[in-house]
Amino acid sequence: MPLFDVYPLFDIEPVKARGSYLWDSKGRQYLDLYGGHAVISIGHSHPHYIQKISEQLGRIGFYSNSVQIPGQLEVASKLGALSGYADYNLFMVNSGAEANENAFKLASFHTGRKKIITFSKAFHGRTSAAVAATDNPSIIAPLNETDRFVFVPFNDEAALEQVMDEQVAAVVVEGIQGVGGVQVPGDSFLRKIRLLCDKYGAVMILDEVQSGYGRAGDFFAHQHAGMRPDIISMAKGMGNGFPVGGILIHPSIPARHGMLGTTFGGNHLACAAAAAVLDVIREEQLIENASRMGDCFRERLENIDGVREVRGRGLMIGVELEGPCAPVRKALLENHGIFTGSSSDKNTLRILPALNLGEKEANVFFEAFDKVMKK
Ligand code: PLP
Repeated sequence: MPLFDVYPLFDIEPVKARGSYLWDSKGRQYLDLYGGHAVISIGHSHPHYIQKISEQLGRIGFYSNSVQIPGQLEVASKLGALSGYADYNLFMVNSGAEANENAFKLASFHTGRKKIITFSKAFHGRTSAAVAATDNPSIIAPLNETDRFVFVPFNDEAALEQVMDEQVAAVVVEGIQGVGGVQVPGDSFLRKIRLLCDKYGAVMILDEVQSGYGRAGDFFAHQHAGMRPDIISMAKGMGNGFPVGGILIHPSIPARHGMLGTTFGGNHLACAAAAAVLDVIREEQLIENASRMGDCFRERLENIDGVREVRGRGLMIGVELEGPCAPVRKALLENHGIFTGSSSDKNTLRILPALNLGEKEANVFFEAFDKVMKK
């Protein structure tokens, strides 16, 4: 049976991975500066992660959300302590789109309203409400077309003010826009959203699916701005490759039985993976490392000819080149064995490595990048 052909594929088959490196079926080694779409947070195949998941699998791998699953409480407690959101409630799901889907639904249940404000270049996932909040008509099926999502130019406080009213259930914004080309919301913009949500009784949703979990040098990217949203969505780095997502919910939003649900979300194995990730982020001080290594990357990138702008924070880095980034990414991969990412902006490549990336790996990248850019 053929596979449904929706992905353009590299002719590479990774068979082994450790830390920031991958090896393919021909034995070639690759440096992973993309983390498989910003997913690898603690490094590939971290021993603590393998141990926690293996031990859990040997006891019980899955049972539904109709029984006690203490692993969920372990994740909630570790996540609360590390993120500074110990007073929020956790609902676990399986992916970023599902996290956002539930965030929108919850905002609508809570306010009784139907309108959601989202921003230009946003990406929130591919399920029905998440894709309607995403600024890419080519992935919106006729079924998902709706006027319930209103798009406003990103970082435009005046435009936002104009569309806010008592009909708005929520405003959703990424901690740092990822797919959109690593666009950072201004601190003042985030605080303005908070202010307007308070004024009109709307829910502020921070999509930290890509920018969260230490990647941007704080646990969540928005924490830089000194405000607290009502709902925070997470996924990607949360499971280091195991499909785990979740939302953090402000205590003023009450739960009722049956309001949200999932078969697989928060299962035993997912919790083991998520708890292991939090252990390693804390013990190996990966947030600090992401911040330090990110500064070092930015400083070096800014001095390279052909780089127009460097955006982002921590290890969520957008490098806007003076021309298209596709040939640069291709040369990095084919000639130097280095994975990097693209974005919806054809000139911007994304660097989204594991948060424990070291100086040795950074040097390997810069040596190769220098050569490619000189060509
Ligand atoms: N939100 C953001 C900011 C993302 O970057 C992504 C994926 O790239 C998603 C949501 C969707 O996540 P998933 O692919 O896990 O559904």
